Order: sequence, then C-alpha cells, then structure tokens
Amino acid sequence: MVYKYFMNIQSMKLIFLGPPGAGKGTIARMASERLGIPQISTGDIFRTAVKEKTELGLKVQSILAAGALVPDELTIAIVKERLSWPDVRQSYILDGFPRTIAQAEALATFSKPDSAVDFEVDDDLILFRLTGRRICKSCGAIYHIVTKPPVTEGLCDLCGGELYIRNDDREETVKIRLKAYHEESEPLIEYYSRQGILMAIDGSPDPETVYNTFISKIRRYLKK
Ligand code: ADP
Ligand code: ADP
Ligand code: ZN
Repeated sequence: MVYKYFMNIQSMKLIFLGPPGAGKGTIARMASERLGIPQISTGDIFRTAVKEKTELGLKVQSILAAGALVPDELTIAIVKERLSWPDVRQSYILDGFPRTIAQAEALATFSKPDSAVDFEVDDDLILFRLTGRRICKSCGAIYHIVTKPPVTEGLCDLCGGELYIRNDDREETVKIRLKAYHEESEPLIEYYSRQGILMAIDGSPDPETVYNTFISKIRRYLKK
C-alpha cells in the first residue's frame, strides 16, 4: 500500500466529478499507477460488459451508444457490489460515479467519500478532447491523437493492443452527453459543496500539471 506512506494517511475515498473528457480517467489512472489507489470506472465496467456481451452488456449497449445515462438502480447496484470488495475498504477513486443526485444519495448509505474532486473544463475543449480520444482495446489506456499520441500510430505503448475510437465520442453523441452532464450531473457540484467536501481543480492544463495540483490539494485537504 504505497500511497499510505506517501500521503501519510489511512484512508482516501475520492469521487471524480466533471464533464465527459475532463480528464477523470486520465488522472484516476495516474493516481492508481503511482499511488496504488484502486480506480473504479463505471464507464469501463459498462464497456467491458458490452464487449463481452454479458447480460449487463446487452442491457446497456444501446444506452451507451446513444450517449444517455444508464438507469440509477442498475448503476447503483453495480457500484454497491464493487465497493464491498476488500481492496477498496480504505481507499478508492470513483471515476464516473455518482452522476446523478439519486446516485449520490444512494452512495451515502453504503460509503462515505472523503472528497469530491471536480475537474473544470469548458465545453469547447471537451469536443477537441473527445473527438481525438483513442482507447486501448486490451488494457483501456487512454490516448489523444494530439495531446497524447502513442509512439506507434494505432497501437498501445503499454501493451501493444489496438487503439479504437469509442462510438460515443462522435461529435453528435458528445453533444448529447454534454447536455446530460449539465442537466443531471452538474448539480452534484453544489450537492458536495454543501457537504463541505468539494475540491475544484482546473482541468485545462496538461495532465502532469493537473495531477500535481490534484496531489497537492489533496495533501492539504487531508491534513485539515
Ligand atoms: P466519460 O469518461 O467520457 O464521461 P464514461 O466512460 O465515464 O464516460 O461513461 C461512458 C458511459 O457509461 C456514459 O455516457 C453512460 O452511458 C454510462 N455511465 C457511466 N457511468 C455512469 C453513471 N454513474 N450513471 C449512469 N450511466 C453511466
Ligand atoms: P474523462 O474520463 O473525464 O472522460 P479522459 O481522461 O478519458 O476524460 O480524457 C479525455 C481525452 O482527453 C483523452 O483523449 C485524453 O488523452 C485527453 N486528456 C485528458 N486529460 C488531458 C489534459 N490534461 N490535457 C490534454 N489532454 C487531456
Ligand atoms: Zn494497452
């Protein structure tokens, strides 16, 4: 448990908020690789289920393709089950959950996050980021054709897997997802602000800068 010595803390339960393309997955992966904090990405869970054509996958496939949100009941049940595993007893990063007030209220009944980190990025940058996003088919690593190109075009630096374009990263679907974000997820900022655990971070600089800001704010926050 490297991160415990690094941060000198017992527990770090974090929620990542922010629009699609804000960099939640990128920063969560960095924290997971560097500090050993388990990352739980509901988007990854759904995409894996779709790929493997499981019962869950068949249920959510058309919802993801349309850029809509998976029903609360289903999403909550999945996260609740995942949070019962022993690896996340002390620390986790929830990347992409909660996305509605109902999900946040449900989460409060089975886990207590230390902080909700909100990555702030304007809508015009989102479109650039998402239309250039590429994902590794094998390990899920995140690339961008301009800001984080792989060494060999189309192939993952980490595992050699093939890179693909998410079918919900097309411009029309991105606009639908952004609308869903503003209507259903943005109210979470005020929800966690009222609870006194909101931490806002400018998500527009390069990933290393965003990551360093995140780490130093978290350190200060947890010392309080
Ligand atoms: P992004 O990181 O680009 O915002 P995600 O990978 O987090 O996208 O999510 C992809 C899709 O999975 C969402 O558009 C939505 O359909 C579904 N999804 C992920 N998390 C949730 C959630 N907490 N509630 C409902 N649907 C979700
Ligand atoms: P989210 O999980 O919030 O949807 P991602 O982490 O998948 O966002 O990032 C979306 C896209 O933007 C990816 O192509 C990623 O490589 C790129 N990206 C992420 N963070 C940054 C950043 N700070 N600067 C430039 N590009 C970024
Ligand atoms: Zn890979």
